[in-house]
Parts: sequence; C-alpha cells; structure tokens
Amino acid sequence: MKRVLVLGSTGSVGTQTLDVLSGLDGSHRVVGLSARGSIDTLVAQARATGAEAVCLADEDAAARLRSSGDLPSGCALLAGADGLVELVERVAADVVVCAITGAAGLRSSLAAAEGGGVVALANKESLVLAGHLVKEACRRSGATLVPVDSEHSAIAQCLRGQDRGGVRRLILTASGGPFRGRSREDLAGVTVEQALKHPSWDMGPRITIDSATLMNKGLEVIEACHLFDVPVEQVDVVVHPQSIIHSMVEYVDGALLAQLSPPDMRLPIRYALGFPDRLPAPGEPVDPARLGTLTFEAPDRDTFRCLALAERVAREGGIAGTVLNAANEVAVDAFLAGRLPFLEIPDVVEDALDAFPAQLEPGLPSILETDAAVRVHARAALQPST
Ligand code: MG
Repeated sequence: MKRVLVLGSTGSVGTQTLDVLSGLDGSHRVVGLSARGSIDTLVAQARATGAEAVCLADEDAAARLRSSGDLPSGCALLAGADGLVELVERVAADVVVCAITGAAGLRSSLAAAEGGGVVALANKESLVLAGHLVKEACRRSGATLVPVDSEHSAIAQCLRGQDRGGVRRLILTASGGPFRGRSREDLAGVTVEQALKHPSWDMGPRITIDSATLMNKGLEVIEACHLFDVPVEQVDVVVHPQSIIHSMVEYVDGALLAQLSPPDMRLPIRYALGFPDRLPAPGEPVDPARLGTLTFEAPDRDTFRCLALAERVAREGGIAGTVLNAANEVAVDAFLAGRLPFLEIPDVVEDALDAFPAQLEPGLPSILETDAAVRVHARAALQPST
C-alpha cells in the first residue's frame, strides 16, 4: 500500500487528488494533509481519510483549530511554513502530492524531493524558482519527479520508453484562455469576472488569471526546460482551444507523439499516483468520434506579453524565474482585487525583471530573499494607482 501525503489538499488539485484516491481500491492510503487556512475542509478531510498528521500553513488558523479540539484524536497538528517541512519529514510518504499554489509551495516541494519516493509535482513554481535545487535534491535522494500539470504529464508520457537523443522539440499546447483572438484594444477594460471564465479548464483563481494572460504557459515553458533538461529553443507553444491534446513531442524523424484526453486534471493526478503503473479510471471510455474538430494556431505574443517575458526568463535562467513569479503573483492579486488593469500585469513583471540583477544558480536563502524583495518592489510600484 502506498502512503500518500497531499500538500494543498483543500485547493483545486488537492480536492481532485482526494477524489481520485477515494475511488482506488485499497492500493493507496492518505497519511497527511495540509492547507493554508481552510480549517473546516481540512478537518473533514482528516476525518474521511484517517490522516496521521495535518498542517495549517496559517499559524492563526492552526491556533484556532488546536483550541477547538475538532481534529480527530491521534491526528497530529503542525503549523506554519516550518510545519509543512516537518510534515513531509514526519509522515515519510511514498508519494507526496505537491499542490500548494505559488512560491509558498517551494520549501515543502524541496523537502519532498529530499525525502525520496515519488514527488507528484503540481506546484510549477518550485521548478520556476529553484529547478536546479529540486533536481539536485532528487538526484541525491533518488526521488522521481512526476509532473501533475496536464501538459508536462503529456510530454512525460510521450517521452517514456523513447530515445531522448531523438527528441527535436517539445510542443506545449495552450487553450488560449478566455481572451484568445482578442486585440490589446479589446482587453483594455476586461473585468475580473470575465478573466475568471476559463473556456475549458476548471482551476483555482490565480492559475485561471495566469491562463488568461498566458503567463501560465510561460511558467510551463520554464517548467518544461527544467523537467526535461532541454533549452528553451527546443520548447514551442501552440494554441489548441479544445484542450484535448495536452502536449506533443516531435522527434528528429518528424514524428509527433501526443497524449489526448478530455480536459480533466484527474488523469495527470492518477498517472502520478500510480507511477510507474497505470491506475484504471472509472466512467465511460473516451469515444474518439465525439472529440470533434481539433484546431491549432500560433500564440499572439504581442497581445499576451507575459508569454514572451517568461520565454526571456527561460533563456536567462537563474534568479530571473523568482523575479518573474513574485512580480506576477503581486500583479495578479492586485488585478483580482480590482487595483490593476488586466493589460498592466506584464508591465509590473517587466519592471521587476529590469530592476533585479541576474544571478546564476542561486541558493535557497537567496531565492527566498529575492522573492520577498520583489514583492515589496512590485507593491511599491503599484501604489500610485491605488
Ligand atoms: Mg498546465
């Protein structure tokens, strides 16, 4: 029986992970859970799974839960950013699902990589900020990194069993988000509500905005370079609005291998939970005759500047990923709060990239310091418009 730890268990990927796990036949057991501050959901999950330990990253929330006595007896409660790392070390899981959103997931992903076993990585920021550290930790411990991002799961599946020397390009598919085909003029006054309406995927709010700006695809380009050890020149993006082909690998002989399935995160989650085996999915098999027409178009990097900025960062490497991500998180939060126009999100990111000097192979302290400094810088830059 595989012991599974789910970090970020109350979020979109976390709840879908528990949904997949609840349908498995005794092959997996949930041993730990974590959330930022969703006490009630976490308690319900702890009761349903019989987890040995849980962590609330928000220390105030943890204190409230501790005094309420709502947690089942025998389930340990940890708190804060240090508590997350302790949780990873304490439960010694065979599979750690890293599904915390944003830079907040970095330290626990690193701890999972250091612990060995399967690291089911949904937190792409861990690679964007510290890809070199995560991979080094995996090399030391023997951990296997299995992506829980539909595109990277597709590429990993298309690379499996193939000669890596025969790879010409990785081609990431992008749905194009809710604003595909729009011009800059069209996007001047878009609302939060419009940006949150993703045409094909149901995801958390930050990644949905990142999909609308194409920053999500940009982060995925950086993620792909780290995961598959390829330079950015070997990673392309194609817009595919139906989100049926989740990505492709082109080989030197011209063959394109692709992975197809309806857009549902439970497939990449199931793939990572079962790795190296495949777990059967419930429900009807896909009928190819009902998939409809699949179309492809080039991304518009002039309107969706975040993609071009991320590709610049993928070329620069080092600390640039941390700067890009931190500035983007601040900008997206400001947009969600109604304090920044949609079109100015890339301006905030570009300003930060120009302000912070390059640094190759930064250590964890430097990454965490820069992450904090960029947030201060980006918030200060936002002040005039508030
Ligand atoms: Mg993705």
